[in-house]
Amino acid sequence: MGFDELGLGPDVLRAIGDVGYETPTPIQEQSIPAALTGRDILGCAQTGTGKTASFVLPMIEILSSGRARARMPRSLILTPTRELAMQIAENFDDYGKFHKLSQALLIGGVSMDDQSNKLDRGVDVLIATPGRLIDHLESGRILLNDIKVLVIDEADRMLDMGFIPDVEKIVGQLPKIRQTLFFSATMPAEIRRLADAFLMNPKEIHVTPPASPAETVVQHLSVVGTQDKRAALRSIIRSEDVQNALVFCNRKRDVDILYRSLKKHGFAAAALHGDMPQPVRLETLEAFRKNEVRILVASDVAARGLDIVDLSHVFNFDVPYNPEDYIHRIGRTGRAGKEGRAFTLATPDDTDAVAAVTRMLGKEIPGFEVEGLEGGQLAEPSEKQGRRRRPSKAKTASKAEAKPAAARETEPAPARRQRRKPATTKEKAPAVESVVGMGSHVPAFMLRPARSGEAG
Ligand code: AMP
Repeated sequence: MGFDELGLGPDVLRAIGDVGYETPTPIQEQSIPAALTGRDILGCAQTGTGKTASFVLPMIEILSSGRARARMPRSLILTPTRELAMQIAENFDDYGKFHKLSQALLIGGVSMDDQSNKLDRGVDVLIATPGRLIDHLESGRILLNDIKVLVIDEADRMLDMGFIPDVEKIVGQLPKIRQTLFFSATMPAEIRRLADAFLMNPKEIHVTPPASPAETVVQHLSVVGTQDKRAALRSIIRSEDVQNALVFCNRKRDVDILYRSLKKHGFAAAALHGDMPQPVRLETLEAFRKNEVRILVASDVAARGLDIVDLSHVFNFDVPYNPEDYIHRIGRTGRAGKEGRAFTLATPDDTDAVAAVTRMLGKEIPGFEVEGLEGGQLAEPSEKQGRRRRPSKAKTASKAEAKPAAARETEPAPARRQRRKPATTKEKAPAVESVVGMGSHVPAFMLRPARSGEAG
């Protein structure tokens, strides 16, 4: 099927041609015609499937008739992070270049006054993170009575970040008669409940990512001592033909340390994490896009939503706490049919984190010997190691139980603390390990970052 069979107008088709897309992705094929008829959409799709264009393209058509009024935007896109919001805005610029639609980005880190001036002039498309939009709503600078189309993007990530009460508050201020396009990579019960509340007779679309990372990314794992990790990384980078790479650390603190170390050793490196002021983040990203910076050291939250198509390498300086993050991380390379390479550095203590990743992949990650370093071995799994966010399988538990209690007790305390960190905790979350009366469960709202840090 071609783009010209989806019901899009000639100007949008021309813009798509200029961007260079030849055929619609499965979610675009299913979502665009339905959205153009005014139908609600429930899209279960993740980044990389072309979901952004699946709502941006029909929105451009729908909004092409009619005019924006001051302070009353005609459509609203809610998205969890600043980076995603900026990418959506870029999509509107690219696909809507033959239309005269105006847009405003309401995201943290950008002056409220500039945003407000834009709203005064009237906007067709409002792209916002929930916290910043609430700030504008509370100051009375914006009215949502004229919203005809609402998009909720990455609903499950908003849930993770604790934004659902804000989203509900915002949607409560929208007209009941509207079109809603709702996207989420996963559909846990809480998201399904929201979808039921926000959507009317939606067309449900489920798509899987174009290829599992296992097929397009060549993966390697090296076990090295903690003190050897930086040397190992440098050695691998030097031995590989690295065009541009993301290096992931589990902790913000390590992002800075590693970045400084790489710079000291002469690499064109930069750091990206949630605490950086927005202008610095934008500058850093721009330098990376232009290849002035080849190696970007990042935390998971800061790197989410980055749309860098031609990444040659991903390095996991740490095995992620959460196996899903492994997939997200390595999925940054090997895109658009190109071969990508992913290297993971594990320490002997990372037994269970590695086991969780291999369970998810359904296969072992091939080992890789780092030149000039003696390779290590993963330690035997222990009971403590098994107590991660994903309940460990019986196999792991029984092995652990076979180990004498004394041996379990001798596990060094810092390692235990590190592993027990809640896997999905955002970077600004307080170090809450458990809450009295709730067992080990920590409700998302307690881990929610302060509003100003909403985009992590
Ligand atoms: P998304 O899932 O929206 O984040 O899109 C993932 C990537 O696919 C982005 O780099 C888009 O520019 C690209 N993309 C979206 N639609 C198409 C298409 N029909 N053909 C080729 N690339 C596309």
